[in-house]
Amino acid sequence: NAPTRYAVVTGANKGIGLETVRQLAKAGATVVLTARNQERGTEATRLLHQSGLSNVVFHQLDVRDAESIQSLADFITAHFERLDILVNNAGASGVEVDEDGLRAKNIEPATWLAGKAVNLIQDVMKTTYETAKECIDTNYYGVKNVTEALLPLLQRSTLGARIVNVSSLRSELRRIPNEQIRQELGDIDTLTEDKIDRILQKFLHDLQHDAIEANGWQKMLPAYSISKATLNAYTRVLAKKYPNMCINCVHPGYVNTDINWHTGTMTVEEGAEGSVMLALLPEGGPTGCYFDRTQVAEF
Ligand code: NDP
Repeated sequence: NAPTRYAVVTGANKGIGLETVRQLAKAGATVVLTARNQERGTEATRLLHQSGLSNVVFHQLDVRDAESIQSLADFITAHFERLDILVNNAGASGVEVDEDGLRAKNIEPATWLAGKAVNLIQDVMKTTYETAKECIDTNYYGVKNVTEALLPLLQRSTLGARIVNVSSLRSELRRIPNEQIRQELGDIDTLTEDKIDRILQKFLHDLQHDAIEANGWQKMLPAYSISKATLNAYTRVLAKKYPNMCINCVHPGYVNTDINWHTGTMTVEEGAEGSVMLALLPEGGPTGCYFDRTQVAEF
């Protein structure tokens, strides 16, 4: 009998995260389903138990809350003593949306996918300093803080630790108009966490000074895009630092979930495939890579 793999999935009360838990549990892993909201997480876990997946346990985790992160690390230490898989899935869109206004527009999914909805939706989608900060604190610092807290447990894995960072196609460097930022984030030889911090500070400064477009940040979903581009950069820095693990990031596909107001075209089953494949990579699998679903792609 193969030894049990212990896994944590963040933001797993719904959407791609919940489905990732389901698929990992079906594959035999013992999965800690985490959610920031106790009730939503407990209910999601109850439904999985009801469907016969008894190897799922719930623990509260708000990735923006240091105490909550520490409490999860303590829980895993006490119950499992090690961790084999971490799927950093929790994410925030970085915008405030007038949902009625959005619905009234009736935009075709293909238009979204092609990035052509920019002008159509700008008036219903607003990036404020607060929404941008929340997005960066969730999608970048949330991942970084959770990962740092769980790394000692991942280092104790005897099965080969796997970290999966759920990114987005919005992270792809070719989409960033500012050439210097593109180059800095793309140069793995000189990338550091400090450099990434400075890029995010510059972004927030430019946002406060209404200089997003002028300084070449992405026009559409600017905070979300840079949060995921920096997440990819962090993934590469980490992969270099821990060569004995497989640490990758993945675009799940354009999936029908709350985060895109259900404009996505794929099912959560399809959306979780990339994360699950990377979580279960065999020994000697790729590391420091970006995947578009299950295929390696350009950063
Ligand atoms: P959902 O909105 O369905 O799920 C997002 C999850 O993140 C929810 O469980 C949400 O919890 C959780 N979350 C948000 N903030 C926090 C926090 N501070 N602490 C803990 N959990 C938090 O969207 P998806 O399932 O689509 O998103 C999953 C990932 O996939 C995200 O990282 C997203 O950026 C990425 N992605 C999705 C795409 C898509 O087309 N759907 C495309 C590209 C990337 P709560 O319910 O409490 O709000």
